[in-house]
Amino acid sequence: MIIGVPKEIKNHEYRIGMTPAGVRELVQRGHQVLVQRDGGTAIGLTNELYQIAGATLVNTPEEVYSNAEMVVKVKEPQPSECAMLRPGQLLFTYLHLAPDPEQTEQLVASGAIAIAYETVTDDHGGLPLLAPMSEVAGRMAIQAGAHSLEKAQGGNGTLLGGVPGVQPGKVVVIGGGVVGENAARMAMGLGADVTVLDRSIDRLKALDNHYGPQLKTLYSTVESIESSVCEADLVIGAVLVPGAAAPKLVKRETLTQMKNGSVLVDVAIDQGGCFETSKATTHQEPTYTIEGVVHYCVANMPGGVARTATFALTNATLPYVIALANKGYQQALTDDHHFCNGLNVFKGQVTCEPVAHDLGYQY
Ligand code: NAD
Repeated sequence: MIIGVPKEIKNHEYRIGMTPAGVRELVQRGHQVLVQRDGGTAIGLTNELYQIAGATLVNTPEEVYSNAEMVVKVKEPQPSECAMLRPGQLLFTYLHLAPDPEQTEQLVASGAIAIAYETVTDDHGGLPLLAPMSEVAGRMAIQAGAHSLEKAQGGNGTLLGGVPGVQPGKVVVIGGGVVGENAARMAMGLGADVTVLDRSIDRLKALDNHYGPQLKTLYSTVESIESSVCEADLVIGAVLVPGAAAPKLVKRETLTQMKNGSVLVDVAIDQGGCFETSKATTHQEPTYTIEGVVHYCVANMPGGVARTATFALTNATLPYVIALANKGYQQALTDDHHFCNGLNVFKGQVTCEPVAHDLGYQY
């Protein structure tokens, strides 16, 4: 199969859909990989590395789209990219169609076969191609929060790990899923005093079994959230209610009872945020302060660590790319019903039920 990997064109997107190692795996299996020149340069994946791996470098996105049987990307296709898709061409990338009627319409009109990373499922009820970005965001949340706690950033001047003779900072993580566990793990690694709240007892049990007494777990109620947030130096918002906007778990009036200079990192901001005072920010201007509490609400956190995020994402996507290339989409999707759940648009039809339902397409 001829596989195309274009350079991402969304603002400040430095990730790329395939690493040189991925190219090598595909070339070794007899496929051809077209990589757009400078697609990975910003994160140290140079043209030379791709060439050594066996890629064919091309200069323009047009050359990628017009020659590839399958296009592998990171972000949803922008209008100029949708216009280059051909009937029957495979597109494998993040799509997030439900809130995006324009993109959906363009994909339907293209006649292409679009498989979305975010709706591929696994046997454990998880989303294996979304999880790597949650891992990245969870770990990064502590890094971002620790930085925001510095005085010069508006924080209260607490070092999360403390030092001998001085107490560590208090970290409260609301939501103990993929983001929350990764945040807690990083915070424990720094030596902070860490509490995770979740409303799933099973989740709390699993975390307790895994991490032991170094990690405090607390059942999530209005009461327990309020009291732990008011004692915290750093609060991480990491909840998810599948298919719904994030619940507002910390109200504006609670901020007035929090420590001055404490920090909220709202990772759930991509679902609307779980603090009432959250509004999406960017890597250029990541924080703002309300009632003396610093808010970090970057909607696309993994983009800030695009190199790590690229490796994390492509480690997860590569087996699926190989399956599509080796077997063709029909066989690959028939063999694996979880993979088939990724199919969002098929030759002019919306094939993902929630997307069809939300946007009024026939399913
Ligand atoms: P997950 O499903 O693995 O975990 C969510 C957890 O929240 C679950 O354990 C659930 O029981 C818990 N929860 C739900 N309601 C709760 C409540 N009221 N109190 C306490 N816990 C509650 O999801 P995840 O992959 O960890 O993602 C968490 C959030 O982070 C999502 O909103 C996701 O979209 C977001 N996210 C954001 C970025 C970013 O760049 N900002 C990146 C990745 C993920």
